[in-house]
Amino acid sequence: MSQVTTLLQTSQQQAEKQEASLVASGCSSLAKAYPDYVFGEDFKFAPIRESIVARAMIKRYWKDLETYAESDIVIVGAGSAGLTCAYYIGTRRPDLKIAIIEAGVAPGGGAWLGGQLMSAMVVRKPADAFLNEIGVPYEDEGNYVVVKHAALFTSTIMARALSLPNIKLFNATAVEDLIVKEDEKGEQRIAGVVTNWTLVSLNHGTQSCMDPNTLNAHVVVSATGHDGPFGAFCVKRLAKAKLIPALGDMRCLDMNRAEDHIVKGTREIYPGLIATGMELSEVDGRNRMGATFGAMMFSGVKAAQTALSIFDERRALNEKLEGVHH
Ligand SMILES: Cc1cc2nc3c(=O)[nH]c(=O)nc-3n(C[C@H](O)[C@H](O)[C@H](O)COP(=O)(O)OP(=O)(O)OC[C@H]3O[C@@H](n4cnc5c(N)ncnc54)[C@H](O)[C@@H]3O)c2cc1C
Repeated sequence: MSQVTTLLQTSQQQAEKQEASLVASGCSSLAKAYPDYVFGEDFKFAPIRESIVARAMIKRYWKDLETYAESDIVIVGAGSAGLTCAYYIGTRRPDLKIAIIEAGVAPGGGAWLGGQLMSAMVVRKPADAFLNEIGVPYEDEGNYVVVKHAALFTSTIMARALSLPNIKLFNATAVEDLIVKEDEKGEQRIAGVVTNWTLVSLNHGTQSCMDPNTLNAHVVVSATGHDGPFGAFCVKRLAKAKLIPALGDMRCLDMNRAEDHIVKGTREIYPGLIATGMELSEVDGRNRMGATFGAMMFSGVKAAQTALSIFDERRALNEKLEGVHH
C-alpha cells in the first residue's frame, strides 16, 4: 500500500470519527452537508491538453481587458478601503462595470495583520455594522470589536467583492497616470486611468519605450494607501500635475482624530476622482491612526456612496462630450 493511500485512508478514518462525533452531538445535518472525497488507487484527474489551459486563461483575460477598457467605475488599489468600496458599489448597483486595478500580485493591501505583525484586527464601533453585513465574526469589547485574524476580514471582503459578476480585478497591474479630459468650459475632469504591468512599471528605466494601456471610466476611486513606492499614487500625480495644491503629508498618530477625519474627509477631491482610505491622510495632512481599521471600511463605504451620487451626472457629461461608449 502506498504512503499516499495510507494517508488518505487515515484522513478518511478521521473524517468518519469526526462525523460520528457530530452525529453524537446532534449536528448530523452539518456533517452530511460536507462532500466526501475518496482517493483510491485508480484516482485520476480528467485529461487536459496544455493549450486548453493556456486558452482558458488567455481568452478570458483579453475579453476582460476589452470589456473593462470602458468601465463605469475604476478603483485603484485593492486594500481594505478599495475592496470595501468595490463590494458596496457592486452589491448596490449590479448594472455598473467596476474594474479594480491592483499593483501587487496579492490584493489586500496593509490589512492582513493588525499592528506590528500581530494577527488580531481592532475595529471601533459603529464600523462593526459593516462586519455584520459581510459576515465576519468578532469579540465585542464595548466600544470596539476584535476580529480574531485581520486576514479573516481581508479574505472575506475580497471574496465578497470578487465573487460579484460586475467586478473584475486586474492584479499585478499598476496605475501609472490618470486620463484627464476638458469640457466645453475648459474645466478638466478625470475620466480614466493609464496602466501597465507592475513589472514593466518597475522597469521603465531598463527599457527604451514601453507604452501603457488605458481604461476609460466615468468615476475613478483612488485607494492606494499611505505614501510609499506605490502608495498615495493618484493624489501625488494630481499634485505633480498642479491639479491640486501640494500634499499635506501624513501627520503623527492620533487614533481619535485620524479615523473620524478619514471617514468625514472621503470625497471627490478633483472632478471625477474620489480619494478614500489612508491616501486621504497624505492629501489632507491628517494623522495616522495605528492599528484600527473601522475608518478603512467606512471610508470605503462613503467613497462608494459618493461615487454613486456623482455617477449619473459624470456619465451624462462624458456622453454629451464624447458620445456613448460601452
Ligand atoms: C508609511 C506607512 C505607515 C502606516 N501606518 C499605519 C498605521 O499607523 N496604522 C496601521 O494600522 N497601518 C498602517 N500602515 C498599514 C496600512 O497602510 C493601513 O493600515 C491600511 O491598510 C490602509 O488601507 P488602505 O485601503 O487605505 O490602503 P492599503 O491597504 O495600503 O492598500 C493600498 C493598495 O493600493 C495598491 N496600490 C498602490 N499604488 C497603486 C497603483 N499606482 N496602482 C495600483 N495599485 C496601487 C497597493 O498595492 C495596495 O494593495 C502603514 C503603512 C505605511 C506604508
